[in-house]
This record gives sequence, C-alpha cells and structure tokens, in this order.
Amino acid sequence: MDAIRRGLLRLRGMPIEYGLGSYRRLLARIDAVSVANLSDEALTDMAARIRDRARAGGALDDVLPEFYALARETCARVLGLRPFDVQMMAAVSLHQGKLAQMATGEGKTLVAVLPAALNALTGRGVHIFTANDYLALRDAAWMGPVYRRLGVSVASVSQGMSRADRRAAYAADVTYVTAKEAGFDFLRDQTMTEAADVVQRPSHFVIVDEADFILIDEARVPLVIACEAPAPPVPHEVVAAAIAELQPVADFVIDENARNVALTDAGFRHAERLLRCPPLHLPAQQTLLSAVHVALHARALLHRDRDYIVRRDRIELVDEFTGRVAENRRWPHGIQPAIEAKEGLEVRPEGKVLGSIPIQHFVRLWPKIAGMTATAEPSAVELHEFYGLRTVVFPPNRPCLRVDEPDVVFTSRAPKMRALIEEIARVQAAGRPVLVGTSSVAESEELAALLRGRRVKCRVLNARHDAREALIVSRAGVPGAVTISTNMAGRGTDIVLGAGDPDAHGKVVALGGLYVIGTNRHESRRVDDQLRGRAGRQGDPGSSRFFISLEDDLVRRYGVMALIPAGHRPARQDGPVEDPAVRHAVAAAQRIIEGQNFEIRRTLWRYSAMVEEQRQLMFAHRQGLLADDGSPGICAEEAPDHWEVLARAVGVEHLRATQRRLALILLDRRWSDHLALIDDIREGIHLQRYGGRLPLTEFQRQIIDAYASMMEGLRDEVAETFTRLRAERGAIDLDRAGLRGPTSTWTYLVNDNPLPSFGLQLIAPGNFAVALATMTLAVVYFPVTIAVVATTFIRRWLRRRQRAE
Ligand code: ADP
Ligand code: MG
Repeated sequence: MDAIRRGLLRLRGMPIEYGLGSYRRLLARIDAVSVANLSDEALTDMAARIRDRARAGGALDDVLPEFYALARETCARVLGLRPFDVQMMAAVSLHQGKLAQMATGEGKTLVAVLPAALNALTGRGVHIFTANDYLALRDAAWMGPVYRRLGVSVASVSQGMSRADRRAAYAADVTYVTAKEAGFDFLRDQTMTEAADVVQRPSHFVIVDEADFILIDEARVPLVIACEAPAPPVPHEVVAAAIAELQPVADFVIDENARNVALTDAGFRHAERLLRCPPLHLPAQQTLLSAVHVALHARALLHRDRDYIVRRDRIELVDEFTGRVAENRRWPHGIQPAIEAKEGLEVRPEGKVLGSIPIQHFVRLWPKIAGMTATAEPSAVELHEFYGLRTVVFPPNRPCLRVDEPDVVFTSRAPKMRALIEEIARVQAAGRPVLVGTSSVAESEELAALLRGRRVKCRVLNARHDAREALIVSRAGVPGAVTISTNMAGRGTDIVLGAGDPDAHGKVVALGGLYVIGTNRHESRRVDDQLRGRAGRQGDPGSSRFFISLEDDLVRRYGVMALIPAGHRPARQDGPVEDPAVRHAVAAAQRIIEGQNFEIRRTLWRYSAMVEEQRQLMFAHRQGLLADDGSPGICAEEAPDHWEVLARAVGVEHLRATQRRLALILLDRRWSDHLALIDDIREGIHLQRYGGRLPLTEFQRQIIDAYASMMEGLRDEVAETFTRLRAERGAIDLDRAGLRGPTSTWTYLVNDNPLPSFGLQLIAPGNFAVALATMTLAVVYFPVTIAVVATTFIRRWLRRRQRAE
C-alpha cells in the first residue's frame, strides 16, 4: 500500500496537472466582475483603463480577473461565442505559461485570445504559432474583431509576404504565424547588415497551437538559410552508378529496423573496384568515402514514393507525420545530391549554410512559452524536460461520448484491405459519414481506387493546398460522406456534423456520429489520438477504430512478432485475429518506439544544445556590431592612421557604416565556415567510440575549440582587411573589394528523419546493430512498458476522480 501511495505522490510531482482547484478559484474571481450591464463604450473605456494600468507597471496577474471578464463579454458580443468555464480556466493556464490539453473542437482558438491580449497590454509583442499558413490567416481574421475591441492590434504572417509587410505584422500587438515562417524571418534577420532591415522585435510571449506537433514532431527539424557557393567536386553520379551495382547481404547489410546500412568488407572491395580507386579508408579518400556512405544510404534506406517523390525533375520529400509532400524540405549532409544522382536527375549545388536553428531551440528563445493541443499527455515528460512546460488536462465542456473500439488485427495486408472496404461500404450505405486516416498519399489513393471500384463515392485529401483541404474536411461530417486523408491533413479544421444543416445533423447523430477509421498505427500514439479526436467533438456521438495487419510497416520494422508470446503467434488467416495478446504486442511496440524516439531526440538535443549556445554568443556579438553604439570601433582603434585618411576622403558617417558592414560580413563568413565544420565533426564523431572516447564529450571539446579559433583573430582580420580598403570618388565600395554579403539567400527545412541512425549510433553502447535488435530493446524497455501501463491506470483513476469533483 505504501508503495502505491508513494507512486501517487510521485505522480503529483510529474509534469501533469489534473486538479483544477486553483483555476476554479481564479474563475470565481473573474465571475465576480460584473460587465454584463455595461455598454459597448463602457467596455472599451474599461479596456483602455486596464491597459494604462498594465503600461504603468501593474502586474498582469492583478488585472487578469477584470480583463478576462471583459474579454469574455467582448467575445460574446462580437463573435456570439461566450467562452465556457473550461475555456476560461484554460486561458488562465496559458497566461501562467502552461500547456493546456483540450480535446479537438473545444475552441482553443478562442481560448488563446485572452492570454494573448492580456500579455500584449504591456506593449511587447505576443506571437501565436499555428500549424500552417492557412490557420494563421484564418485565426487572425476570425479573432481580429475581438482584439480590436479590446484595443489590441493583430496581424498574421504567411509565405510570400514582402519584408515590409512582415515588419508591419511583427510590429502588431499579436501576430499569428507558423513557427517555420517566424524562424525563417529570424534567420534572415541574422544576415542583415543594417539594423533598419530587421523585421522582428525581441521575443516576449508565445502561445503554440497544436503544441505537440510543433514542439515535438517538428521540433528537431532545423531551419536553414543558405546562399549560393561553389560546390566541391564530388562525383555523385559516378558513385551512384557504382553503388547501384552492389548486392544486398554480400556487399552491404541493413539492420532490422531499416534505420542503418553498412558496407561489408567485401562491399568495400567491390566498391573500390567499381570506382577504380585506392582503398576507401585511406585519409585522402575521405570525401569519396562520405559520398559512398550517403549514396548507399540513398539506395538502401530511402525509397521513391515512400520517402520522396520525383516531380518536375526534382526530389520532393514526403513528411513522415502527415504522409504528404513536404514543401521546401531537403535532406542534410549530401544526401539530397545523392538521391538526385540515384534518380538520374541533375545534381543541384547544395549551397553554403549561413545560419541554422532547430525549431526546438527557436521556441526556447521566448522568455515565456504556453501551448495548447488535444494530445499532450503521452509526451508530458518530454514537453517538461525540453521546454519546462507543465501540462494541464482540461475536461471537455460536455462529456465525450466517443467510443474507441479495440483494434481489428489481420495477419496480412490483403484481408485487411478487404475488411476496410467492406466496413466503409457498409457504414456509408447507411448514410453515416466516415473519415479514414491513412499513413501515406499512395495508400489513400489505393483505398480510393478500391472504393470507387465498389461504387462508393469518396473524397481524397491530397491537395497540397491547406485552404482547399480545410474546406473538404469541414464537410466530412455530412451524411454519407467518405473522406480519405493522410494523417493530420486538415488539422485545425472543425468537423461539424451535418456541416451546419440541422436536419443533416440530426440524421448523423441518430446514426452514431462521425466514424473514424485508421488504417495503420503510427509510431506515435499522439498521432493516432489526433485522428480519433476528429470524432465526438463537443459532446457529439462518434466512434473510432483502427484496422491493422501484421504486415504493416510499423509492425514489421519493429519486430512485433517477437513481442507476442510464443503460444499466441497467429497463423496466416483471412479473418481478424481475436487473441488480445496480439493487440497488446502492437501497443507495446508502439510504446517501445516512442521511448526510442524520445531517446533519439534527447541525444540530438544534447548535440544541438551547445551549437545553439554558440549561436547565441555569436549573435550577441553580432548585435553589438550591428547597433552603432558610438564607440570608435575596431578599425579606428587598430588602424588610426588609415582611418584618418579614409575619414577625410569619405566622411566619418560613411566610414563608420563601412566598418560596421565589413565586420559583419567577416563575422558571418566565419560563422558559416564554423557551421560547415560542425557538420563535419558531427559526421565523424561516432568513430570516436572505437577510440574509446565518449562521442558527446569529444564533440563538445572539438566544437569549443572550433568556436574559439573562429572568434580568435576576427578583430585582426577586420583591421587588416580595413587597411587594404581604398576610397574612390568619395566612397568605399566593399563589393568591389570582394567583400560582398550573400547576394541571394534561400531558406529550407532539413529533414533529419533518414538519420535517426545517427542518433542511435551515438547512444547505443558497443555494437550498434546488436544493441538495436528488437529483443534487446524489448528487454531494456520492459520496465518502461510496465511503468507506462501502471501510470495509465493511475491516471485514469485520477481523471475519474477529477470528473467526480
Ligand atoms: P479546437 O482548435 O479546439 O479544435 P476551434 O478553435 O477550431 O477548436 O473551435 C471549434 C469550434 O467550436 C468552432 O466552430 C467555434 O466556433 C466553436 N466554439 C469555440 N468556443 C465556443 C463557445 N464558447 N461557444 C460556442 N462555440 C464555440
Ligand atoms: Mg485548433
């Protein structure tokens, strides 16, 4: 009994809150403020008075009850939506810098308005990160009237906007933008050599919508800004041709999880013969060896139409979470040209990286972070560890009636597909709407073709256009609709049963509401939960069910069969498997993978954290150079005579500007070289293990040295370059002196999915392939699985208690 009590106490210390007592008390204080009888003008006056108090230094916590009461009344009058009590409590939690978990359709968009407007009162900008551009525009437009009534300006940023428009949007009190766009603007700002060209203000408070998606799934994606640069002569085409000749098993081996591939000794000899080159392990062959590695990776681990597609003679990547083509995304470390060579496309230069920041570190730049999502609980520990965010679980406004049916498991794929088609056709014939979530565009299309063969009308969401998708998804709840979409397509769009028609609504409710079918379990439970959450919004009926087979990717790649106790392994059959042990094995595998992915992210984080620290150091230095503080500056100090000469020729003003630009250009060049060096160090670092050293320690040591030598001599270089400058016709032309900043830059995201092997190599002790064997993992994670199962029970108990409260 004692052990259980201690366990419960520990749970309380966990980064999740179930008790809502403190929020209820604040809600009572908000309710005590009477605003219902005030005229619109009186409300506006009240907003102005509260703002003045906040500007005069009044604590936001003190004005919160009054302001939230006012905001609630404003929402009701302007939008006709009066925030429910749970929404008010969630709004309080966001102001406190927490992560509010609220189910889909509970009205998170409205919730965010209160803390955003409150925190904007101080005059410092508030950002709301949305999951895509369409939602940034939609939410800013939808909530705009409320903000304006409260005297708060609002704007949104989206792709394709000019720099001037962006600057104006970031200057608004509240700015809706995707984390990506904001990150790219941040990186662009970092390359500006004039303070006036910067578009963003210092960060203050950010509310992240769909927080788990942005803070976990997208978080390790580095944002990159690059410019043109001469490419090193790597014979990608020749290498690709040689690698295509190699034989699996004899020449190279792929590990069980299809996450890593390595040449065998025979493979090395074979490759060397094909390339007609000296042994690849010779130091002089380093570049070629890297090219061989990436080419092998491209051939063995990355598959066309699964990991990427070829369109308009270009490689376009497929996003692992959405299953859709990801715009503007590239693979790192030479993999992109290797794939281009593999597919016989023109190999494009990779460019020179000027700056880079993973979304994770970018978000952490905000002094205050809050978030909201329907699915935080399974990742609460991670969100707390990385962002210090505590998750608060809010119950739905009306009890959720959705029924989550147990998975239906088949031994092979064909009967699963048959059963899926049968089920969809049967349900649709009755007029009940069905939403099917698939794992890839290809699977969506296959399913749609099969359904059409059965004369079942369906809509497939593979438009790359978020707005169009939103429109289709919003109609997924009309009678008889069958909508097929990849994971998370149309995220953020409400599925209203009957789509606004009361008769249709009644009909669908009578049939049991929206029926959500998943055709695969995803690596992350959160993604599955998101899909389920599409049904049963705001107390509607609904149900969800997953159809899976033991031939699915997830099941095969992680060796689920090995997790099924010997006596329970099913023989190949057409009907579904009834044995619950099989379902449990699939669920256990999912938890193991989640643990493994968390560990990978943790490791990658350790590696990126120090790079980010260096970026911040460098950036602080750069800011110092950018802001002209009136001090003489490096050149005047180091080369006073030349300074005098030039000052007479071009004037002090022009000379100071030139000095500033010169220092920035040279610093940026060094930083860019430093980033390239870090990449090289990181790529070679796992070899350190063979020398008996710890990769992480060694990595840190090397990049500390690299940073020191980057900064060292910068001052001398600036001064030395300065003495070579000449004035011509009353001006100094840095461009002509060969000191040109990047002329054109572009931004992209780096896909690091193909490199989880990198992460694992860094954590797995000893032989990596063996360490990865599923059984080992199963054993390693067995206690974790037990713990997870136990906490699930305890959580359920706590939640039931909360409901009873
Ligand atoms: P979420 O982001 O939580 O999934 P949304 O913000 O998209 O939900 O809102 C879902 C729907 O709920 C919207 O149609 C919105 O108009 C409605 N809604 C939100 N808050 C309220 C409220 N207080 N009263 C009535 N309807 C609301
Ligand atoms: Mg939403």
